[in-house]
Amino acid sequence: MSIDITSIRAQFPVLNQQVNGFPLVYLDNAATTHNPQAVIDASTDYYSRLNSNIHRGTHFLSREATAAHEAARETIAKQFNAAHSHEIIFTSGTTDSINLVSTILTFSGKIKAGDRVLVSGLEHHSNIVPWQMLCEHTGAELDVIPITDSGEWDLSEIDTLLTEKTKIVAVSHISNALGTVNPIEKIISKAKALGALTLIDGAQSAAHMKIDVQAMGADFYVFSGHKCYAPTGIGVLWGREEILNELPPYKGGGEMIERCSFEKTTYNVLPFKYEAGTPNIEGAIALARAFDWINEIGIEAIAEHEQKLLDLATDAISHIDNVQLYGTAKEKATVLSFNIKGIHHYDLGTLIDQMGVAVRTGHHCCQPLMARFGTTGTVRASFAVYNTEDDVHALIKAIKKAAMMLA
Ligand SMILES: *Cc1c(COP(=O)(O)O)cnc(C)c1O
Repeated sequence: MSIDITSIRAQFPVLNQQVNGFPLVYLDNAATTHNPQAVIDASTDYYSRLNSNIHRGTHFLSREATAAHEAARETIAKQFNAAHSHEIIFTSGTTDSINLVSTILTFSGKIKAGDRVLVSGLEHHSNIVPWQMLCEHTGAELDVIPITDSGEWDLSEIDTLLTEKTKIVAVSHISNALGTVNPIEKIISKAKALGALTLIDGAQSAAHMKIDVQAMGADFYVFSGHKCYAPTGIGVLWGREEILNELPPYKGGGEMIERCSFEKTTYNVLPFKYEAGTPNIEGAIALARAFDWINEIGIEAIAEHEQKLLDLATDAISHIDNVQLYGTAKEKATVLSFNIKGIHHYDLGTLIDQMGVAVRTGHHCCQPLMARFGTTGTVRASFAVYNTEDDVHALIKAIKKAAMMLA
């Protein structure tokens, strides 16, 4: 499999610009990806032709907008092989999706003092803090899977961390700070055997590998549109039908009711029960278009391309003096996290940006993980379908030059 990188890049208007006098090299894809013209067109088309509130309207535009919004849900359901399209709940992103699940579990009364919640040591703050909040409200306690020097889960003590007391296991599929692809299957099957729910933070996996939520076996899978070549402000919670049916709603408002009176309000069916208020209609439509676009290229071909770039960059950077890599797991995807000994990550990142190369510096919303590695942050380069070998060369050249200037 190979992809036509020139034609792909030409579809991203944002890439066609100079930054600080250099052609932009965008390597901050783990933070957000860009939108191809097809997705921008889907957004524009919605506002130019369809803009209208959905679901309750009898007029033409409302019917058309409703149909497009619900077709988007079907597309996402198919993409992730959900058993039912009403298992796809549109949210504003990963953070929103995780907070939805942690809050409805809190509201449910199913989590009690003494119960345990399990996360891993490499989670993003958005897969830590909502669980700490749940613990604060319920009296449950948080357990954490430790991380090895190579940036992988240390599962040697898993039998004491994951027990019948564990009510939910919430872990990421791919680490945004290290790129580690976590062995989620192991933990899902173990959690299942013990009766614990499982949530997979798919923010870094949804656009980088084929996901089949039924085969995965978890109860919830969440991701953000803006990391999948779609706009910000749209995201997805996939949840197993019987669990979502059983749990209470979270936000109250329009659309989520079946009948509302001052005496008693009853709730709508899935997915509307969890979609109070006017949703991000354009975002959902653009997200579906983004996955169609991904499929036109082929997600396996994209993954192969990104892996090639990651391998090339990993090899090249290992020849730079005093470089320290974070995350050296066997199975990795798209993320290269590093420091140069004696140089602050922020200084390194700032100089690299001055050479037109966009990387991220800092803790990547993973302060506990950074603490585990004894650093306040790293420099992170992350790849997407539109990156090239030239981008890798530009990165390496910029690192070398910056390191020399800062030495
Ligand atoms: C980006 C990211 C999040 C948060 O996503 P938002 O779009 O900011 O809500 C959570 N987890 C991981 C692994 C991420 O990469």
